[in-house]
Amino acid sequence: MKKRKRDPGRLHLNDPEKFTSVYITEHRNRKRMTHRQKQLIVIGIIVLLVIIAGIVMLRAFTQEPVIAFKQSKYTMNIGDSQKLSVKLDPANGKAPKLSFTSDHPAVVSVNSDGRAKAKRGGTAVITCTSRDGQKIKVKITVKSPKQEKVIYITYDDGPSAEVTPDVLRVLKKYHATATFFVVGQQVKEYPELLEAEAAEGHTIAVHTYTHDYNKIYRSSDAYIKDFTRTAKLIKKLTGKTPLYWRFPGGGNNDFMSSETRSAILKELHKQGYMEMDWDAYTEDAVGVDYSVKSMSDNGIRSLKNSRVPVILIHDLSEKSHAAEVTENILKYFSKRGYSFEGLDDYYGAEITFGSGESGK
Ligand SMILES: [Zn+2]
Repeated sequence: MKKRKRDPGRLHLNDPEKFTSVYITEHRNRKRMTHRQKQLIVIGIIVLLVIIAGIVMLRAFTQEPVIAFKQSKYTMNIGDSQKLSVKLDPANGKAPKLSFTSDHPAVVSVNSDGRAKAKRGGTAVITCTSRDGQKIKVKITVKSPKQEKVIYITYDDGPSAEVTPDVLRVLKKYHATATFFVVGQQVKEYPELLEAEAAEGHTIAVHTYTHDYNKIYRSSDAYIKDFTRTAKLIKKLTGKTPLYWRFPGGGNNDFMSSETRSAILKELHKQGYMEMDWDAYTEDAVGVDYSVKSMSDNGIRSLKNSRVPVILIHDLSEKSHAAEVTENILKYFSKRGYSFEGLDDYYGAEITFGSGESGK
């Protein structure tokens, strides 16, 4: 049986005086204990406050100074290297660990010390992030080099067995190099043609794997997946990662929403690629059956009027006049002292229809 707690008052129930005095003593004791408990609580609170104060002081002592770029923007020339200085507030604060990234490393790359290098014309935004998560940004504009008498011929949709070998022959005859924006599934069919293009010094660039608008423009993920497949195939066959890509239908086509376009650009720029539309055209894919002379004249005229001499010709099997048109253009401009280069040797800004900044 459970022992009943003894009530001191109960023992003296018969003696009311004793009962009262015992009860009062007990009551005092209880009061005293409560007082001790209070003391303990106060001590506890003090200890807690000291700990909190300690943490706050430690935080204050180790807190990062506020960071900011010394300059609000930079302008650089190609080949320039520039340390992006970061100022601190307070100025004598301990510099936190910083990391730097570029949103367009093909234009401006940046190393872990914040040294930026201008590589090609255009703009890039450098983000500096501190250990505690402060994020600051600075815009860098790289000036495009002055165009010397150079023309960049670009071919889309190949390689094809019917057209590409003739195009390569004509280019060789004029000591010209050019750029081939290839379609992955065509490359899969004619890998030897891609290898020949690369071996002859031409630039190889990405024009998607399938060229199927319904597939590639469904979402940015769909486009990137298709793009990556093509880039990997090019790398496998040529040993070189391509630098440029061109959207089928151009950068302002109606199949791609502006959100999809922005997402693709953001990702591919981050990965180090450059977009390239065109600024001159032979009009070989406008649905009109132009003669070789008309297409050649179109090309020559639009090159003369172009801001950036990048011309589009198609080397897929239906465009069987690509080699003849190419020869007419080469003949015309080489007589006038022009040379012809692949886009690997181009250091100007992207031609991009989508942003409305350049191109037409
Ligand atoms: Zn195309």
